[in-house]
Amino acid sequence: MSQILVGHQEIFRQLWATHQADRLPSAYLFLGPKGLGKSTVTRVLAQRINCDLGQECGVCENCRLFASGSHPDFLVVGPTGKQIKIAQIQGLIGTLNLKPMYAKKRVVLVKEADKLGLEAANAFLKVLEEPPLDSLLVLTSEDEHGLLETLLSRCQKVSFGPLSRLELAQLLEARTQLEPEAMELVLAYSEGRLRKELIEKAPELLGLEGQVGQLLFRLDPAKLVDQMEWLESLIKQGLEGYFLEFLARWLRDLSFEFSGQSERVRRPAAVALARSQGFEPPVPVLLDAFTQVGETQGAIYAQAGKLLALEGLLLRLHHLLQGALVL
Ligand SMILES: [Zn+2]
Repeated sequence: MSQILVGHQEIFRQLWATHQADRLPSAYLFLGPKGLGKSTVTRVLAQRINCDLGQECGVCENCRLFASGSHPDFLVVGPTGKQIKIAQIQGLIGTLNLKPMYAKKRVVLVKEADKLGLEAANAFLKVLEEPPLDSLLVLTSEDEHGLLETLLSRCQKVSFGPLSRLELAQLLEARTQLEPEAMELVLAYSEGRLRKELIEKAPELLGLEGQVGQLLFRLDPAKLVDQMEWLESLIKQGLEGYFLEFLARWLRDLSFEFSGQSERVRRPAAVALARSQGFEPPVPVLLDAFTQVGETQGAIYAQAGKLLALEGLLLRLHHLLQGALVL
């Protein structure tokens, strides 16, 4: 696993300064969406704290163990299935009772700590109440509300913000082999974090994004049946979330473009394509359609019937956009 730390320089600088002043708390809670780099910051901090030279020298025993991904004093626990199970926490407690093998300071990373089951959370609470000497505990979570108040109160919170477009591009260059077009797609839809599935599917999703545009430009009643069948096939492939995301992006970008805010457009090539096909509905209609997409995303998220929700949306788009284009 790459040790590269991209972004979060200020957070890292403060953590390191706190360590150097010998004032690290026994536990941190790193908050922010998945894919921002919370675990990477923890790993690089653990490496630097324990490096013989106080950096990531890459040469000392400690750094070599980190590079191999098997440092016995950097302990990582995360959900197996839907939860972090009590047995995992019991195993962790067993290890913490022993002295560290190499480290000056052992670091424990509990990923997605909101997924601690109740029993596991209570067992982990005991660790937080009497933290082992020379150990740093780091919990990560997308949402602090999923954690027990008793756990929260014993952790110092650090909030992680999104990565800039430039930082994200650096990270993608270092970790992936995306072609330029796929890279542009990932950057446009990432919202400042690494989205693993989006990255894996990017080449295939490029095609889908174009197809979504074509659907929007050709809301011809004669094509309705074919379009509904296509939606059904998307659901079978588990792509309905991307369908809605792309649709929302098309409508949002076109609304910006046609209301004179082209600097806010994320996919300029897509807008150019829409213009070349003479697709220029009035902005209020685009915004109305955008709202409909958002409501459908909400309905699907709330586990409503996917096909019914998507078909309903398609009918409303036909109604909205055809009327607009005839006028
Ligand atoms: Zn080192």
